[in-house]
Amino acid sequence: MTLDELEVKCKNCTACGLCEGRTNLVFGIGKKDADIMLIGEGPGENEDLQGQPFVGRSGQLLDKFLASVDLSRDKNVYIANMVKCRPPKNRDPKPEEQDECIKWLREQFKIIKPKIVVCVEFQRKGLLTKISELQSSMANLLIKTVHCLWVHITLPQF
Ligand code: SF4
Repeated sequence: MTLDELEVKCKNCTACGLCEGRTNLVFGIGKKDADIMLIGEGPGENEDLQGQPFVGRSGQLLDKFLASVDLSRDKNVYIANMVKCRPPKNRDPKPEEQDECIKWLREQFKIIKPKIVVCVEFQRKGLLTKISELQSSMANLLIKTVHCLWVHITLPQF
């Protein structure tokens, strides 16, 4: 299956309650065979409205960081989230929602085969604990299919 075919399937997903509040499902964006994959937790308001990950002020800052080291979602990275539909009022995705949605991220990994995975977290949250939870849960779920370097960065929440 190609990434485009996977996206078409994902866009019809109603596997958890988050589908009820979405304006757009946020599948992911970027180079389809990128060596670097960035992963956030879930879409916010701007992402839900535009159907793309990291497009608010934090996302613009992320794009500046990436550009400073010659990286860009247009040419050499892929960006996605753990859950594809916006949680109400930007709350954290519930464990059961993450468990349900991780299948899509797992399939994205299988197709893209990144060499480096960057977990992107916001400063307002529980920082290192949260990041390590996110990182280890994703690694546990994905490590059987992909062997790669895991790192994390934090962004300010505007
Ligand atoms: S959050 Fe994920 S599992 Fe839930 S409806 Fe959206 S795509 Fe499906």
